[in-house]
Amino acid sequence: MRFLVLSDIHANSTALAAALSASEGRWERCVCLGDLVGYGPDPNEVVGRVRDLVDTVIRGNHDKAVCGMKAAEDFNPAARTAVEWTRSHLLPEALEYLCMLPAGPVETYGLTLVHGAIHDEDEYVFTPAQALDGLLASPSGVTFFGHTHFQGGFSYRNDRLEVIQLRAPQATGFAALRLESGTRYLLNPGSIGQPRDGDPRAAFAIADLDHEVVEFWRVPYDITAVQKRMNEAGAAEPLISRLTFGR
Ligand code: ZN
Repeated sequence: MRFLVLSDIHANSTALAAALSASEGRWERCVCLGDLVGYGPDPNEVVGRVRDLVDTVIRGNHDKAVCGMKAAEDFNPAARTAVEWTRSHLLPEALEYLCMLPAGPVETYGLTLVHGAIHDEDEYVFTPAQALDGLLASPSGVTFFGHTHFQGGFSYRNDRLEVIQLRAPQATGFAALRLESGTRYLLNPGSIGQPRDGDPRAAFAIADLDHEVVEFWRVPYDITAVQKRMNEAGAAEPLISRLTFGR
């Protein structure tokens, strides 16, 4: 089975469309690691698309904040404004869908999905020390997480933890990681709608568990068109300009 793994779409329908177009015909099931909305200008389009597309989806911290489940006080002012704008522009059925999303971790088809860390969906996993808990505690050999907007991850075997960093070449669009038996993986597909790892292209992964390969994809999209819609929606300038740099 081949899985399309999406995360942190953040209401960017142009980036999502580019990712779906590039991955067409390459996967059978789609999973999503949360943060469907927040920051971007297209919350209704993205919720509708995800609802039609995914087999399994969990909530992110922005989805929770929009639903009032998580206090937005710990968000920075720009993110808080984005939460308020999103809440006021979401159609009732889209808001209802977001508010019913389950918390991670969730096991599905042999994969474990979590938005942040295994023991806390809102916690960030940036460092090997932060990854170790999840690598040891996850019920699955392959766990996907999001939240940091950094593509890559960690592997663990024989008490050795390694950082996985791959960069997809422009020519093919993806870099492949071969999964080794006896090794545990904590992998981040990166962010579709707001990458922060220095590569502005939309990020996602395709996991082919039968052939034990995970492809880390990057696809270009029309960033300027999204920035224009963000500008019209009154989004904060730093949120608009960071799309150019992927930081
Ligand atoms: Zn996010």
